[in-house]
Amino acid sequence: MKSHKGVLVVISGFSGAGKGTLMKALLERYPNYALSVSCTTRQPRAGEVNGREYYFVSEEEFRQMIEQEKLVEYACYCGRYYGTPRSYVEERLTEGRDVLLEIEIQGALQIKKRFPDTILIFVTPPSAAELKRRLAGRGTETEDVIAARLSRACEEAAGMEQYDYLLVNDDLKECAEHLHRVIQDQHFRPSCMEGAIEQMRKELKDMMS
Ligand code: ADP
Ligand code: 5GP
Repeated sequence: MKSHKGVLVVISGFSGAGKGTLMKALLERYPNYALSVSCTTRQPRAGEVNGREYYFVSEEEFRQMIEQEKLVEYACYCGRYYGTPRSYVEERLTEGRDVLLEIEIQGALQIKKRFPDTILIFVTPPSAAELKRRLAGRGTETEDVIAARLSRACEEAAGMEQYDYLLVNDDLKECAEHLHRVIQDQHFRPSCMEGAIEQMRKELKDMMS
């Protein structure tokens, strides 16, 4: 019996928890995962490339995408808009690929409502002090933005129980392996094995007739 359907996975966590770094480590080791590239109205950071980290769009373009239902979810985070392009997610899942969405909590809950089989994973650093260290150490945001993101982290912490799994990103490699294991285990859920279940039922029926 083999699973044939792709699994939809949401990965959330405080800004600076290491989600981006974790996605990179996971994909380096397991390149078959399909990581969705979101659209955002925030400015690119130094080193970010349009179409790789994000599609950087204007507010007008973002509004048009909402109107044309091109986004499967979207949310406002610290004054900027972020959204997941629908076509990429639908196409990769149809191909049987496991799709990763690295998005914040409001978007995560929209996705879960729309696709109830989605697994929600929350990535946290080992401590609040380490979070601040990572956020400041990244060196990509001003002090004001860092303060806004830490304040947002306090709000997001209230929603951690709504996730299916919590992963502590302490040792990066270990965390990537743990994440991979959690996702692969989902393939054993009956909802991922509908084709195989039908096949088994048919074989049993044929055997009895
Ligand atoms: P996020 O995408 O969650 O905002 P990043 O992936 O940009 O976070 O990581 C924030 C900072 O923390 C980066 O400088 C990154 O190198 C560092 N970092 C990420 N994971 C770890 C880890 N496991 N141990 C130590 N530093 C880490
Ligand atoms: P950053 O500006 O640090 O890249 O991202 C800020 C926050 O937006 C992070 O929590 C990130 O997970 C989230 N985010 C990125 N893309 C999307 C998206 O498409 N939809 C939603 N809802 N959140 C997103």
